[in-house]
Amino acid sequence: LKLTGEVELVKMIQRLAGSPAGSRVVLGIGDDAAIYRPKTGDDLVFTTDMMIQDVHFVRATHPPAAVGHKALARGLSDLAAMGAEPRFSLLSVAFPMTAERAWITAFFRGFIRLARDTGAVLAGGDLARAERFFCDVSACGAVAQGQALRRDGARPGDVLCVSGHLGGSALGLASRRGAAWRRHLRPNPRLDLGIFLRETLRATAAIDVSDGLSLDLYRLCLASGVAGRIDGPLPVFHGATMEQALHGGEDYELLFTLPAKTDLPSAYAGVPLTRIGTIERGPPGYVEFRGEPLPPLGYDHFRVSPHP
Ligand SMILES: [Mg+2]
Repeated sequence: LKLTGEVELVKMIQRLAGSPAGSRVVLGIGDDAAIYRPKTGDDLVFTTDMMIQDVHFVRATHPPAAVGHKALARGLSDLAAMGAEPRFSLLSVAFPMTAERAWITAFFRGFIRLARDTGAVLAGGDLARAERFFCDVSACGAVAQGQALRRDGARPGDVLCVSGHLGGSALGLASRRGAAWRRHLRPNPRLDLGIFLRETLRATAAIDVSDGLSLDLYRLCLASGVAGRIDGPLPVFHGATMEQALHGGEDYELLFTLPAKTDLPSAYAGVPLTRIGTIERGPPGYVEFRGEPLPPLGYDHFRVSPHP
């Protein structure tokens, strides 16, 4: 079995897992988060993310409090993309015998501070030894029954929009300086915006931009069975290149679709909102950027070559 990318690997796991009859999991593998529907009350939304030394961060340049912050922010960004409100988090951590107490303490401080600020109370986890630091974070949220934003709701005619500015995290990782580096280290999950998109703007679909606009738009279009066209001006992070804005990962902005008649405010709580294109009938997952096909070149752990 030769896997060519994360999309294919996820499909294989989906096939193996199936969807057990009678389960209250109403949305399983393949979205930003899974949805569990209790008999009464809100739907519960779950997501899990790993953070691995030398894959997601390096000890030499990433302060431990920022690593803790980001470990949780990644999961919270997935909850934001579902329009959910955080309820609690679980954190499993493995670190080497040589890890300094100060590093570990600062890591937990960074995590717990964001957990407190967002309602994602740290409720448990596990500890183990490993050769390199890694952690796995589960984030749980709640959303009114049947109201979660999903990737599969975009329809031809919808407008395509994005929050904030793109490419900042990639620029920060390359330069290790200034606002872009701070952006890379401490992404701000768009939780309030996610709820606003769901409740007020009645967004039809959403995904967080975790692996780059090109790849995450491809995923949204594929899930919705539609094509996407980017034709508006892109909100590029100050100093970032178009390449970084289109394909750079870890911006943790929200990419969403709205019915065509919706009035898009220019910003929400200080975060700019930009209409960048439209959703169209076409091959599922096909994306065009200024008249040319846009390949999904964003970040993929399992891609064999960087440019397929
Ligand atoms: Mg996501």
